[in-house]
Parts: sequence; structure tokens; C-alpha cells
Amino acid sequence: MKKKILMMATGGTIASRPTEHGLAPAVHAEELLEGLTDLRETYQIDTLEVCSIDSTNMTWKHWLKLAECLEHHYQNYDGFVICHGTDTMAYTAAALSYLAQNLGKPVVLTGSQRPFGQQITDAGRNLRDAVCVAADPRCRGVQIVFNGQIIAGTRAKKVKSFSFDAFTSINFPLLGLVQNERVI
Ligand code: ASP
Repeated sequence: MKKKILMMATGGTIASRPTEHGLAPAVHAEELLEGLTDLRETYQIDTLEVCSIDSTNMTWKHWLKLAECLEHHYQNYDGFVICHGTDTMAYTAAALSYLAQNLGKPVVLTGSQRPFGQQITDAGRNLRDAVCVAADPRCRGVQIVFNGQIIAGTRAKKVKSFSFDAFTSINFPLLGLVQNERVI
């Protein structure tokens, strides 16, 4: 039986396209998965559009909406991926960690420094890694998966604006690594 993953999209650079006013969220969750067709051979991935915003515009109302979506769909999936802008991803991860405590399943936030459609981008790798963690029965609770690192949702901090290794874990060890789609 394929593991069932729900991928929730919120916008951010990962789902952005260039416009005359700069990058703007425009890509739907299904489009994000188009380049990762092999993932769908291994996992059943459903998608949900929660919002389509730059994460600097995230508010507590969006956090509650995400928590409600998790609660509503919790029994139907093995794990959850939330695609999110990097600027406030750590805050959403912390908020969800406290809104949804003692989870028995993984809730994985990810995003990217460069948009999905660009030639050089970290989007595909981060998305792949996030799905692998979301499908791993050893993983549970809210975490950020970025650049191969698995960081506890209450400990992540964005420390770089351009490099792919944008996040670090503050005063707490990494929960794990993802290498070649293997969770360590
Ligand atoms: N401003 C973007 C956001 O946080 C930055 C990013 O996603 O990397 O939505």
C-alpha cells in the first residue's frame, strides 16, 4: 500500500514566478509536483491550496487555518507536507508545534530559496526530501526539512537569505538528515 501524503500549499518563493513587480506566488501545488512524477509512483500525494501568499504576509489566522486543515485531514493521511515561504517558515513551524502537540505523524514544512521553475533551484530537492520525511514512520511532529536537514519545528531559525543552507537548529541537535532520499 502506498503511503498517503497531503501536500498543502501556502505560496512563498517555491511557488513563485517572475512578474514585472518581482517574484510572486503563482504556482499551484499540482504544478509543483509535475516535475516529480516518480514520487507519485511511490507515494499517493494529494494536494490542498491553503493560500497563495508571500510568507511575510502570514498571520495567526493562516496558522489557525493550517491547524484546522491538519485536524480535518489528520486521520486520512500518513504524513503532511506544507510548502511555505522561507521568511516566516520558522514562526509557522513553532506556532503549529504548539497548536498541534503530541502528533503521532510527521508534519513537514519546506520551501526553497529559488523558485520551482528556475534552472538552478533547491525546490525539487527540498520537496522530495520533505515527502520522504512525511512518509517515514520514524518521524513525527512538526519539523522543517531544508537542504537535507531535519530541524525540530520549535528550534529552526532562518540564518541565510540566499544560500541553500538557509536554516539552522538553535541549541538543539538536528533531528536527522536526508541523503539521496534516505532519512537518516
Ligand atoms: N519572501 C519569500 C517568502 O517568505 C521568501 C522565500 O520564500 O524564500 O514567502
